[in-house]
Amino acid sequence: MEQLTPMMKQYLEQKDQYPDCILFFRLGDFYEMFFEDAVLAAKELEIALTGRDCGLEERAPMCGVPYHAAENYISKLIDKGYKVAICEQVEDPSAAKGIVKREVIKVITPGTVIDPSMLKEKENNYIMAALFHEEGIGISYADISTGDLRVTEFTGKNVFSNFLNEAVKINPREIIINQDSYEDLAVEREIRAVCSQTYITKFDSWAYKIDYGVKTLKNHFHLLSLEGLGLQDHSLCTGSAGALLTYLEQTHKKSINHLYKIQYYHTEDYMVLDKTTRKNLELTETMRDRSRKGSLLWVLDKTNTAMGARLLKQWIEEPLTRSRDIQQRLDAVEALKVDLLTREDLKEYLRETYDLERLVGRISYGNANGRDLIWLKSSLSMIPKIKILLNSFSCDALIEINDRMNTHQEVIQCIEDAIVDDPPISLKDGGIIKETYHPEIFNLREAITKGKSWIVNLETEEKQKTGIKSLKIGYNKVFGYYIEVTKSNLGLVPSHYIRKQTLANAERYITPELKEIESKILGAEERITELEYQIFTEVREKVSAHTEMIQKTAKAIAILDVLISFADISDRQNYTKPVINEDHLIHIQNGRHPVVEKMMSESYFIPNDTLLDCKDNRFTILTGPNMAGKSTYMRQVSLIVLMAQIGCFVPADAAVIGIVDRIFTRVGASDDLAQGQSTFMVEMSELANIINAATPKSLILLDEIGRGTSTYDGLSIAWAVVEYISSFEHLGARTLFATHYHELTELEGILEGVKNYCIAVKEKGDDIIFLRKIIRGGADQSYGIQVAKLAGVSEKIVNRAKQILYQLEANDINKRNQGQDIKESEIALTKDEQLDLFHYHTDQIVSELLKIDVLNTTPLEAMNH
Ligand code: ADP
Repeated sequence: MEQLTPMMKQYLEQKDQYPDCILFFRLGDFYEMFFEDAVLAAKELEIALTGRDCGLEERAPMCGVPYHAAENYISKLIDKGYKVAICEQVEDPSAAKGIVKREVIKVITPGTVIDPSMLKEKENNYIMAALFHEEGIGISYADISTGDLRVTEFTGKNVFSNFLNEAVKINPREIIINQDSYEDLAVEREIRAVCSQTYITKFDSWAYKIDYGVKTLKNHFHLLSLEGLGLQDHSLCTGSAGALLTYLEQTHKKSINHLYKIQYYHTEDYMVLDKTTRKNLELTETMRDRSRKGSLLWVLDKTNTAMGARLLKQWIEEPLTRSRDIQQRLDAVEALKVDLLTREDLKEYLRETYDLERLVGRISYGNANGRDLIWLKSSLSMIPKIKILLNSFSCDALIEINDRMNTHQEVIQCIEDAIVDDPPISLKDGGIIKETYHPEIFNLREAITKGKSWIVNLETEEKQKTGIKSLKIGYNKVFGYYIEVTKSNLGLVPSHYIRKQTLANAERYITPELKEIESKILGAEERITELEYQIFTEVREKVSAHTEMIQKTAKAIAILDVLISFADISDRQNYTKPVINEDHLIHIQNGRHPVVEKMMSESYFIPNDTLLDCKDNRFTILTGPNMAGKSTYMRQVSLIVLMAQIGCFVPADAAVIGIVDRIFTRVGASDDLAQGQSTFMVEMSELANIINAATPKSLILLDEIGRGTSTYDGLSIAWAVVEYISSFEHLGARTLFATHYHELTELEGILEGVKNYCIAVKEKGDDIIFLRKIIRGGADQSYGIQVAKLAGVSEKIVNRAKQILYQLEANDINKRNQGQDIKESEIALTKDEQLDLFHYHTDQIVSELLKIDVLNTTPLEAMNH
């Protein structure tokens, strides 16, 4: 340390305080990084790694980025999950004695970015603080770009898995957890397993103390008690919220005022979906390549604002469970669906509305520019038009939206009065404030204009006086205003001109009076940019006092946008309004899969009915060949239920939906395979989780349970699962169970509530045709070989498989001991069996026979044939 240069010492002192960040150290026009930071950043940002003398024998590794392009680089690092600390020069270098003072002015972390270039327009960027406590878990999460702040807590049974389900739903970019819980619970590993994109930060335990939380919340919301926030009985939430606000203040180095409201919610008010189910149902992205196209969100998103798009995603991720809330949304969608003309007008106004939530976030955070204020003004001026249109509706949700929207006349007027219509992006170059707004701005602008026209006149006058036709007056940053005379005219230059600069073919001069005017112009320019900046910040602060109200309006617009999107898609795709009930009945007539039907270009989707209740039809055993459409059907049923519970119409001719508290799926393969678990193990642990967490109000989809083990084991497990889930004594949840074990169809009539359905196929010669229609009864064949043929498996294998199947069926392999390899000799066909193969291989056998010249064959040859 002793040998280091003073600047390097200063660097290391700062870096010591932010060991988990990449430190951007401001040096003139660059942010420089040193030592390990430099090596890392050079690699991640693909920039050159150089070195700098640091006082030690070896040069310190260094890399840097220009300060004006820093955003781009910071955003890249944040995207890769790093934190960046910005260390600025905090005093004027010309006034500094010795080394310029530098301090970290903010820390940018994945969960705390506010800059639009670092955010996805249609997604929230959440940061969550979780408190792991012996009494349970409290969570608080916020999107600081929009001002949303929500809290909840988990106590009682399944605390940790309930927390994980919620974490998967929220999908925060960053989770901060209390340090003391950290090692005991191995929390990080568990969170990482479900939220792979989340950055986990360990944070000081004192910030999670409940007393400290109470104090922090009271300060932040300027309250005397927490009752006003509804948190008096939720100490775990209080602890986590205290930590969250403290962390945000520590990273931003200022208070985050636009988190003006804290909302406590009960997890029971929303449908619970675990990670596997979210993935299987492809709610917001597809399983195969995680693309938006092909997901439910892709089908439903007809929103016209970024706020609406974000809210829609949130609604899809958290369907409602209270019938009144669902009904309100459905009624609003119906009203909007019917009134096409008003809907089209509303959409037009929404398209003109910018992202109010994030605009107002930037305004109150203090980093909005003139353009942001103009966008705010133009967006707010849509509100009166929207309100007039909404007046014609009489349903509760739309009336409430209308009530929540304020016209914000004062804000509009304030911006209108002060800010020019097309302001520059920069706040430091002037040209933002209207001259009518402030007399001094008017005077200064006049002085500048006058000065400049005086200079134009001076040029004409000097030309006349000197007789130099090519004389001109110009300006540059170093010399200010000057008179330029070409070399050929130097003889005509008057003696009072003072020479300032010599060029190749001209000389530049100044005169005292030119300099006098120049200093007036430059002085006025300097003053005006300073004054404009000051006025701008005052206006921004005035507007920011309305943050809370504007956020309320923004939320109302977002809700309206999503409801209109639902009305639009319901209209276009012929969806119907579901009837919501609380008594378990799910009755869908001609239901369709919303995504599969949208993806089909040539053929038509075949609709199917569904009947599930808590009595005779609570457990459907679904059989049918592979490719028949079993998983499509099961997903379709759950998507229809889910769509109804987010308040959207559903793809069916009619639907009665008995509210579901949780949907569970065990369908297809899972990625945990990559983490070293076998298919069977994953399947069984998912099954255990379902049995453990499901309630009689849940909807369960199970596809081919038990297939990863020997036939008898698998069948026995599947059988026991049917018994357990279908019985009221244990669970009695509504279930769709797809299986290849046709033996299970015997359970209908034995177990109460179990009904068999199968997907019809038609045999045509050697092939099968999929009819895609669900009918009552069990399938009697699997048609696996025919499906293999359809899938392009070579004819040789298909034919051989048929031979083997024939033999196995004849010997009834099921009666043999399991796990025994089938020997070639056991499968070789006897002569009698060969004759029986006629109906399988007529063509082939006939052609073989035709090759034999019977009349000229000796008895010995015939035997050998
Ligand atoms: P299974 O689960 O029985 O193996 P899938 O559900 O995967 O079968 O369906 C196979 C394919 O059949 C799907 O990719 C889909 O394109 C098509 N399909 C399924 N159901 C229908 C339907 N009702 N109408 C039209 N096509 C369907």
